[in-house]
Amino acid sequence: MSTTAVPSLFTRIMAGEIPADIVFENERIIAFRDIAPKAPVHLLVVPKTAEFANVTELAAADPALLAEVIAIVQQLADEHCGGQYRLVFNTGPLAGQTIFHVHAHLLGGPLPEGSLGQ
Ligand code: AMP
Repeated sequence: MSTTAVPSLFTRIMAGEIPADIVFENERIIAFRDIAPKAPVHLLVVPKTAEFANVTELAAADPALLAEVIAIVQQLADEHCGGQYRLVFNTGPLAGQTIFHVHAHLLGGPLPEGSLGQ
């Protein structure tokens, strides 16, 4: 049986194979605008490693990388939406996750008051 994994969409964006509106990049993390924004500001903040499918796996294996994701989220929110934001990690298909390469949705700008919906 082959063990070759199919690269995730995000891995292909990082490789430059698929265009994206990149707003941040360092050695470990990349952030770009969601192609189908659900808020005035909708950024995806993505650890470059494809090792973790979701935030639970990331937190268990590399809490320092998760903390760095959160720090970058704050930095991007400061730059794009006045430092205030909603952070969503869809975890599992029943929660709406479609790409199984851990990523944070940073949602900002005016958001519906009292709603957790995207
Ligand atoms: P999730 O459903 O939590 O796995 O999030 C995947 C997100 O990726 C969705 O919000 C999509 O709109 C977004 N997405 C899909 N394709 C692209 C793309 N080519 N560039 C930027 N965002 C994308």
